[in-house]
This record gives sequence, structure tokens and C-alpha cells, in this order.
Amino acid sequence: MLSAVELPASAPAAVALLASAGDGAALMAGGTLVMPALLHGDQATRRLIVLAKAGLGGIELRAGSATIGAGVTFARLAAQPGLAVLRPALASIGSPTLRNMATVGGNLFAPQPYGDFAACLVALDATAAVLSPAGERSLALERLLQEGIGRQEIVTAVRFALPDPARWTYLKAMRRQLNSAAIVTVAAHLPLAGGVVQGARIALGGVAPTVVRARAAEAVLEGQALTGAVIARAAEAALHDIDPADDAYASAWYRRRVLPVHLRRALAGLTGDAS
Ligand SMILES: Cc1cc2nc3c(=O)[nH]c(=O)nc-3n(C[C@H](O)[C@H](O)[C@H](O)COP(=O)(O)OP(=O)(O)OC[C@H]3O[C@@H](n4cnc5c(N)ncnc54)[C@H](O)[C@@H]3O)c2cc1C
Repeated sequence: MLSAVELPASAPAAVALLASAGDGAALMAGGTLVMPALLHGDQATRRLIVLAKAGLGGIELRAGSATIGAGVTFARLAAQPGLAVLRPALASIGSPTLRNMATVGGNLFAPQPYGDFAACLVALDATAAVLSPAGERSLALERLLQEGIGRQEIVTAVRFALPDPARWTYLKAMRRQLNSAAIVTVAAHLPLAGGVVQGARIALGGVAPTVVRARAAEAVLEGQALTGAVIARAAEAALHDIDPADDAYASAWYRRRVLPVHLRRALAGLTGDAS
């Protein structure tokens, strides 16, 4: 049962508290997932370490790259003119009320079918700055989502190169147009070199236990001109990349049906052919 709430004034102070607090300690950022869990009977958390004052609210956009503090809310991100390319993704996350509280750091630990911003970060080849009592390390976002972080670690920021808006696409299939978790989320960055795809990164949400790279689809696209036929093959190949589950939003069967259609639509947006 919860008996203490701590409000550390810096990231190192948060990490030190986490290290000294033992098993019953938990971190909270915006609290959109942690608070409902506490209110619905989470008995394991005895000490809550709230990150709101830990100095994780920085946004730095410089020379084509972004460093975003883990405590930045989606509402603040959406208000950044330099991050306009990510606005469709941000607008697809929950409701305005949720986006006023939900943070970038919390999204990395949100269970599927949440994690829409995490999918963007994987497609952008982002890294996370992770702080522990031993110091800071840099961790690829894709690895962080697969392996998690240590019990005494916190994420302080994420870093990525800003994509060319013409080579970036984001599309989320939902049960309704607003405020719904993903049936399938597609975030993709498809740079071209000499008229062919080079360095494609496609991340999928809602279709596996974590956000996944659509590596089979990427392999089909690599080195090819982005034609309708190539996109159709890539969209079918992506079925090898997923392991969907049934939940309140959709069945695994339905997700398998939706994925190729949805991925084809997302990628077609990058050719100017939306058929
Ligand atoms: C009604 C509703 C709708 C939602 N819709 C969406 C949606 O459409 N898309 C979507 O992606 N998500 C959605 N979510 C999930 C969630 O709100 C967001 O993913 C949000 O980004 C979580 O951030 P938070 O700051 O509120 O996390 P919190 O609830 O504070 O924390 C969540 C988890 O992350 C950990 N954590 C937080 N910050 C850090 C850090 N810096 N370092 C290490 N661990 C940390 C916490 O310990 C906790 O385990 C929804 C949630 C609700 C309740």
C-alpha cells in the first residue's frame, strides 16, 4: 500500500531515491497509467517517485536533430513549430486532456496497444538517455522497448534526427477517429537515394507484444523504386513481422486483415499515389 510520495528535484536525485527505496518503489511521470493502477488496487507500490520536478522537461531542436526530455508532455511537443512533422502522430494519442499529462518517457513503458509515440521513435532510429547510479548510457529505442531498463534506471531524454517530412508517414487505424488505442499503428521513414529506397525503417504498433520493426517489409523495399507493386509486396511481407493478440479493440484475426491494407495506404502516401 502506498505510504510515501517523493518529488525529487533532479534526475540524479530521482535515481538515488530509486536505488535506496527497494522493491516497493515506482516512478510516475504524467500518471495517466500509474494513477489509474493505484486507484484500482495496486498494492505493490509503497513509495511513489514523481518525476514532475526532476528537470526532464527540456526540448532542444538544433541542426536537424531533436533532444526531448522524458518529462515533456505530448501537448507541449505538439506546440513546437519545429516538430510539425510529428503532429499527426501526437494528435492520434488519446484526447487533449490526456495529452496535457501524458509524457514521452511514460509512452515508452505503456503496454500495447498503446505506445504510438514509441513507434515513431523506433522508425526515427531514436536513442534514449538512461540514467542510473553508475552514470548515463545511450540505448537504442528499439532495444529499450524489447529489453526494458534496469530497476534503478530512469529515461531522461530521447534523441533523433528530424526526418524529411516528404519521406515520413504515420497512420493509425482505430475503432473511432479520436481517443482510441491502436488496431494498427504505422510509422515509417523511407529515405530515397537515386530514386530508390535506402535505409527504410518501418515501426508497427498494436500488432505484437511490443512495438516491432517491419523488417521483412523493409527488406522488400530496400533498393527499389517506390512503385505500387513494390509497396503491395512489402505490405504482405509485413505479416511475417507481427504477432497480434485479441483485445478489447480488435481481434488478432482482424489486425492481420487490417495490417497489409493499412501499411499499403501509409506507404502509398509517400509516392503521391494514395490508391
Ligand atoms: C484513456 C487513455 C487513452 C490513452 N490513449 C493512448 C493512445 O492513443 N496512444 C498511446 O500511445 N497511449 C495512450 N495511452 C497510454 C498513456 O497515457 C500514454 O502512453 C502516456 O504517454 C504515458 O505517459 P505518462 O507520463 O502518463 O506515464 P505514467 O503513467 O506516469 O507512467 C507509465 C509508466 O512509465 C514509467 N515511466 C514514466 N516515465 C519514466 C521515465 N522517465 N523513466 C522510466 N520510466 C518511466 C512509469 O514508472 C510507469 O511504469 C492512453 C491512456 C489512457 C488512460
